[in-house]
Amino acid sequence: MNYTDEKIVKQPRKYFAEDLDITKWENVEAEMQKLDEEEINSADDLIDFLKKVGELSNILSEEMAWRYITMTRYADKPENQEKFNEFYSGIISKAKPYDFKFNKKFYDSPYRKELDEKKYGHLNKIISNDIELYREENIPLQIKEKELTNKYGEAFSKLTVTYKGEEKTLSQLAPFLKDPDRKVREEVWKLRMDKMMEMREEFNQLFDEMKELRIQIAKNTGFDNYRDFMHQAKGRFSYTPKDIMKFHDAVEKEVMPFLREETEKRRKILDLDSVRPWDTAVDLDGKVLKPFDTIDEFVDKGIKILHTIKPEFGIRLNLMKNSEYLDLDNRKGKAPGGYNYPLSETGAPFIFMNAVGMHQNVVTLLHEAGHAMHTFATKNIEIDAYKNTPSEVAELASMSMEFISMDLWNEYYKDESDFNKA
Ligand SMILES: [Zn+2]
Repeated sequence: MNYTDEKIVKQPRKYFAEDLDITKWENVEAEMQKLDEEEINSADDLIDFLKKVGELSNILSEEMAWRYITMTRYADKPENQEKFNEFYSGIISKAKPYDFKFNKKFYDSPYRKELDEKKYGHLNKIISNDIELYREENIPLQIKEKELTNKYGEAFSKLTVTYKGEEKTLSQLAPFLKDPDRKVREEVWKLRMDKMMEMREEFNQLFDEMKELRIQIAKNTGFDNYRDFMHQAKGRFSYTPKDIMKFHDAVEKEVMPFLREETEKRRKILDLDSVRPWDTAVDLDGKVLKPFDTIDEFVDKGIKILHTIKPEFGIRLNLMKNSEYLDLDNRKGKAPGGYNYPLSETGAPFIFMNAVGMHQNVVTLLHEAGHAMHTFATKNIEIDAYKNTPSEVAELASMSMEFISMDLWNEYYKDESDFNKA
């Protein structure tokens, strides 16, 4: 199904030259110096200033986005990782002291008080939080932190095992954990874990190094621990780590007994002595849902579902498909996970995931499509701090899309009972 043959067109720049070469630090720095020297003589000037800062930030973040996307799509190619790291340490990190200056310039401006409280009150909060958490000495540590994360993605992307004579990625093993034959499940689960265990030393070392770095980052910022630091860094103004601990307790009290009941039910239906890790994914009715055979079918049905919810939604996902802003199938060399990455300048996102033909993949596609529609809806916001939504807000769009699309999942499941099960 095709609702449009058009492709996504990048939005034109308002304040910066289209041919500005941002891969050279001296070019970026010259623009940032100009911004730093800009005189602000009214509240309108102040907002204009923020918009300019926002556009430059969009340009930089889009370049970083493409490098990140290429790195995760082809995670087994070290040159992609180098290109990402190079841009992050050579441009993004060097721009951070300027971002701090711009925040200060906004914060210290006498015209800030003249801004409409309703529209900009929250902006004050975000920017003063950023100022409070900024430490120049954390910049090199944050570069190192990114590099460690990327190393993990690379190492994971290369993991494959041989199963029934075929080379398979760890994601491609997941469907076998739904096999009705317990021996198959156990064999596959152990195959997967044995492979991970081979990486034990390397992963442990990455984790330990990262932990040290993060504790140091938190300490430099004046926090006792990384948790409290991250809570504030994530802009969680309306609840505290203490509230989260209370929530954990509630889960233990209310959800865990239910989960135990469900596991007991599973044990009885599967007729087992005890439920083992390889018994948790298999369907209790013995049926395995098969929503699609090919990636084209997978995305086309998703487009159709979105179009039924709101034509604009379907057209937007269709545009992403036409523009090759989707990389959905799992293969060797891809980093794990899934994401919707906003391309801030273009005003559209890229969706990355590791589909292997399972029901969960349908949910993930619709989830990421929810994020994608959010990206499209916010593309005209010119103030940077208002564009970056914390997870609490971001997941509202994505999880809502899962729920509101549910009645239309029969697009993937022609059989009535499959649809009900899904
Ligand atoms: Zn999400």
